[in-house]
Amino acid sequence: MKTDIRPPSIETADIEWRDGVPCSTRFDDVYFSRDDGLKEARHVFIRHNRLAERFSGLPGRSSFVIAETGFGTGLNFLAAWQIWEASNPDENACLHFVSVERYPLGRDDLRRALSMWPELGDYADQLLEHYPPPVQGAHRLILADGRIRLTLFFGDVLEAWRELDFQADAWFLDGFAPAKNPDMWEEAAINALKGHSRPGTTLATFTAVGDVRRLLSEAGFSMRKTPGFGRKLEMLTGEIPLSTEADGNAGEPVPHSIAIIGAGVGGSLLARNLAERGLEVTLIDKAPEAGTAASGNIQGALYVKLGVEFNDQARLGLSSLLFSQRYYTRSGGDDWHPTGLIQLAYSDVEANRQARFTVRNDYPSVVLRAVDADEASRLAGIPLKTGGLWFPHSGWLAPGMLCRSLIRHPRIHRCFGFDAHRLTPCNGKWHIAGNGEQDVIADRVVICAGHLTPGLIPLANNFRLRTIRGQVSHLPEPSLNNPDVVLCGPGYINPAHKGTALTGATFDLHNHSPGMSAESHRENLTMLASMAPGVFKSPVEEIDPDLLEGKVAFRCTTHDYQPVAGPLTDREGRKLEGIDLFTGLGSKGLTYAPLLAEYLADRITNQPQCLPASLARRVATRRCHRQETSPSEPIGA
Ligand code: SAM
Repeated sequence: MKTDIRPPSIETADIEWRDGVPCSTRFDDVYFSRDDGLKEARHVFIRHNRLAERFSGLPGRSSFVIAETGFGTGLNFLAAWQIWEASNPDENACLHFVSVERYPLGRDDLRRALSMWPELGDYADQLLEHYPPPVQGAHRLILADGRIRLTLFFGDVLEAWRELDFQADAWFLDGFAPAKNPDMWEEAAINALKGHSRPGTTLATFTAVGDVRRLLSEAGFSMRKTPGFGRKLEMLTGEIPLSTEADGNAGEPVPHSIAIIGAGVGGSLLARNLAERGLEVTLIDKAPEAGTAASGNIQGALYVKLGVEFNDQARLGLSSLLFSQRYYTRSGGDDWHPTGLIQLAYSDVEANRQARFTVRNDYPSVVLRAVDADEASRLAGIPLKTGGLWFPHSGWLAPGMLCRSLIRHPRIHRCFGFDAHRLTPCNGKWHIAGNGEQDVIADRVVICAGHLTPGLIPLANNFRLRTIRGQVSHLPEPSLNNPDVVLCGPGYINPAHKGTALTGATFDLHNHSPGMSAESHRENLTMLASMAPGVFKSPVEEIDPDLLEGKVAFRCTTHDYQPVAGPLTDREGRKLEGIDLFTGLGSKGLTYAPLLAEYLADRITNQPQCLPASLARRVATRRCHRQETSPSEPIGA
């Protein structure tokens, strides 16, 4: 067993195969019945939670939530997924499966275990394709085109139930036997189920141990014993009686109409996400097309700088990076180029930072690893003077194209050329006024208008949001030793595509000019020459900045350079009903936006949330209020 685990890695399972069945050497117990694991899963968990009848009775567009203790091989998950498909739910209905695993199986063990069930082969292949690397925290996997959403928490059960926000319809209690795995069945773990249950929530477990039954009864479940599977004489089932008062938060109703202001990467991803969950969305932008402003560059890197300390900021960066890599692999089509990316150790300070980062943290090599200058040069296909951190599954995207393909969906209604300038509450709805146009009226509004966001927020006080100009330069491919991978440092360069490579971007706090300037091009060339001089075929001074093309855009960043996503709250933390903010993505929008769009869509549809509470707090709007202003008043309320 590996004991010197540093974050963000997590210990993996130690598996021994006994009679062809996986066993944990740590717990000295089997993952599933030697008699027939799939039949056992169906008998204990599927049948005794009455899933077949409950799935087929679901109204359209709704979701059903199963929560499980102990993901193990994922067999129970696949069995539930199979019965979900067989019961033909509405095409917009979604099965959420929330599970926790303290010692995740390695991918090879998972594959071997699941190969025992050829009838689950298609589901197992999808799970394996998306199965996250062994890093701590919550992982959201979108499967079966969004009809299945798996929230897999790699960590301890108590932490999972403290951090995750969901209400279960059914529980699968599947730790190892209580005598061998007591922490899974201790009072605190069982009590925590109550806060995630509601009247009518059912549960099933293979064990019939008296203490477990007693603790579940005390937690509010009415329990009964019933015949178990195979050699097990008895098992337990339970239900929170319908007469019980709900303990958990029932959540807001799903809005009938929703408007999103801003059709950049964030707005387009959110619109698509909600449309795929069955909601009709009005997408507003003052431009005539999606992805024209800050999201309109011809190339953008999928990049995040992870801090030396593995804190919430690094957790958010890592979760966003892993989620976006999965997202673009599934949905990025031809706009996604997973070339890999090197974060260069371009200066002594950065080399020192990366050295400390490497000592303090333990990232699986599928996520990133340190490379020296020789290896970096081999990977990039051009000479590089320094090594750095290699992200094998990163790459670059064509953000404007991505936005335009995302919004092609029959439930996304475009309201382009609409210059939204004021939001006013009226009879429980929001009226969005545009210059001389008819108001757009919606139950819920998400403002993701980049640097124009502050002017739309219907609160009197100031937000700590800043506008930062950025100019990118387009370099003609013939002038370059074209790198095979994205190179990042103080700026970045993407591999040339269709004859052009994008480099940049300037970071102009005090220049707000929308026009391109030769000075900014020169700045980009100097930056690139210092970071990766081998990129240029001839001396950089020979390139005439006046002849370069490029683009100017304005980023929206926060005081702490962290994104904002969630309900708009005033300075005292009171929610303004029906409004969310989605902004502050800075220059990392391609990385943060997929996960944060998923999080906002989870909230808006009242489904389990993909962000743990600590990360939801990290992106909350409240932290962005300036402290010195007088109490905030909703405008027009
Ligand atoms: N449901 C699984 C399946 O379909 O293959 C089998 C689960 S196995 C019987 C129990 C799982 O609980 C193991 O994978 C084990 O690592 C996990 N586990 C044990 N203690 C835990 C804890 N404190 N927190 C989270 N997971 C834990």
